[in-house]
Amino acid sequence: MTPVIAVANQKGGVGKTTTAINVAAGLSLLGKRVLLVDLDPQANSSISFIDASSIGLSIYDLLTDSSITVSECTLATSVDGLFVLPSRISLAKVEAKLIGEFDAPFRLKDRIDPVRHNYDFVIVDTPPTLGLITVNALVASSHLIIPIQSSYFALEGTEDLLETVEKVKQRPNPNLQVLGVVITLHDKRTTLARDIYRQICGVFGDKVFDTVISKSVRLEESPAYKEPIFTFAPTSTGANEYAKLCQEVIARV
Ligand code: ATP
Ligand code: MG
Repeated sequence: MTPVIAVANQKGGVGKTTTAINVAAGLSLLGKRVLLVDLDPQANSSISFIDASSIGLSIYDLLTDSSITVSECTLATSVDGLFVLPSRISLAKVEAKLIGEFDAPFRLKDRIDPVRHNYDFVIVDTPPTLGLITVNALVASSHLIIPIQSSYFALEGTEDLLETVEKVKQRPNPNLQVLGVVITLHDKRTTLARDIYRQICGVFGDKVFDTVISKSVRLEESPAYKEPIFTFAPTSTGANEYAKLCQEVIARV
């Protein structure tokens, strides 16, 4: 079965999108066929590859209208083998629209399951909330990557995230596994960052990926040029680290 990997943490700005886009692109560059599903109304991962003006049908249409097909919404990117199911700001309305629908948490799963065999990996970027959109991602996924920012408040909120994961595992999706925790925006020169690293390892043990993603200006810049780090700055630390993370992801699934 094709792995479906959600990248989630309800904290904002911890590197979910940066991780989703670069893991998706990195796997594609290793010859894998990858579908990147953008479940965030901010559409950051979509516009990291595609011009906003060329996004027509989006994940919102797919989740709310059963007559629309996945292939009608899917767009090819400039990266060979990487496809995007794009988002638009309209996705912000989806929770209100699905309220009271008995299958609301299953909408994404029901749309992705029939097409996942067309890909080697499906990567799902999520918004910074634990609402219905993120629950849809967790219900549809086989695995979860949790990016945690190397900062003083790093672990704040992870209990709530893990509680949601446990609830999803109890009922709709017993197969969901935490694939790993990736420490992001790390500055290894500071003592605080080293302490936080140890603290995160103390909580998550061997779930923490060996690869730590350093703070890097190149990683911040690449989405603006609609390129993943591997083509934008192929010799950068960011490219090197995300390439290593991709190897760990392949080894763990
Ligand atoms: P949101 O919760 O809003 O969706 P997010 O968790 O997806 O945020 P990103 O958008 O990936 O987080 O990152 C937040 C900001 O930090 C962005 O401007 C991004 O370019 C930058 N950033 C992410 N990772 C790094 C890094 N390793 N080095 C430098 N900047 C980074
Ligand atoms: Mg994001």
